Amino acid sequence: MNESTAKQNLLDLDREGLERFFADTLGEKRYRAHQVMKWIHHRHVTDFNEMTDLGKALRAKLEEHAEVRVPQVQFEKPSTDGTHKWLLGMDGKNAIEAVFIPDKGRGTLCVSSQVGCALNCQFCSTATQGFNRNLSTAEIIGQVWVAARHLGNVPHKMRKLTNVVMMGMGEPLMNFDNVVRAMSIMRDDLGYGLANKRVTLSTAGMVPMIDRLGEESDVSLAVSLHAPNDELRTELVPLNKKYPIAELMAACERYVMRKPRASITFEYTLMKGVNDQPTHARQLARLMRQFDNAVQMKDAGKVNLIPFNPFPGTRFERSTEADIRAFQKSLLDAQVLTMVRRTRGDDIDAACGQLKGQVADRTRRQAEHNKRLQAQADASGTGGSSAPA
Ligand code: SF4
Repeated sequence: MNESTAKQNLLDLDREGLERFFADTLGEKRYRAHQVMKWIHHRHVTDFNEMTDLGKALRAKLEEHAEVRVPQVQFEKPSTDGTHKWLLGMDGKNAIEAVFIPDKGRGTLCVSSQVGCALNCQFCSTATQGFNRNLSTAEIIGQVWVAARHLGNVPHKMRKLTNVVMMGMGEPLMNFDNVVRAMSIMRDDLGYGLANKRVTLSTAGMVPMIDRLGEESDVSLAVSLHAPNDELRTELVPLNKKYPIAELMAACERYVMRKPRASITFEYTLMKGVNDQPTHARQLARLMRQFDNAVQMKDAGKVNLIPFNPFPGTRFERSTEADIRAFQKSLLDAQVLTMVRRTRGDDIDAACGQLKGQVADRTRRQAEHNKRLQAQADASGTGGSSAPA
């Protein structure tokens, strides 16, 4: 409920919540809730007066008690390769980014779950901005709404938006309830009608929440691994200190065992001289084979190699093309299903790990990052800082 207007934002409610709202607050039948869901998510209508199959009295009741408040598009930018990025205002101070990536018969929207991120992965642009707050369900599904309207998407007919990945700003499992509710709208026929396997949640490894996700949802899981041993992973993904690789892989095994034929994608960002050496490839292959054996399924673990996307102030560089190919070959030779994710949208800073938005930071992380940028500029004699917005 929006405190300032005391109206319920209907984007915050999944089918069950909307049915309850119609019954308890409006004294209306369930099927009315279904009609309204279709108006909002299929036809992108936010004005109750345009919902022409609702009676006048119901429209007046809705006006009084409810609203459909979508994120404000502050800025949008198409890339030369068809990728499209939106900067979406979430309140007066914060904005997040969502990115649409079209590719051979499918269209994937990368959605954010938090304003900033608290996990501080060392190679991630979002992390340099610190953390402000979780996004509400309305703010998460609102990103899908904005993209679907822009694309003229019509579920079951003109489906241009075929996949959603929760891989934008933030750690989705740290905003569990809002994310799970938003994903239920994505998969609902009255929402965006996406199949379970077409909605993917990517986590840095929140072990207890992976188990909870397995109990409550059927979406695809991706895990940001980025290193094949604890020493290196703790350096790159500090969350590893709390949930080391053995615990993370055990949680992944439990997730897959609950869902027949499910597989998990392990994301691995390749950084020059850091995690891209032959020994790392061998260690990663061993991990994947152990995983397949534990769940007794071939290709239960797939590897997605992501060439690092540089951003101002980072100490990392992208691996060379030769090292990327050698790393992939080493995994393929070890019978590990391995893809290299082609970089898309890097001309508009929409590539993986480059999303920034505008975060009214409540931590010192951004200040520390800016200090690092300044120190680099001083050392190189260029003087000024090019701190991100
Ligand atoms: S990689 Fe993901 S989890 Fe890690 S800091 Fe960035 S947004 Fe957060």
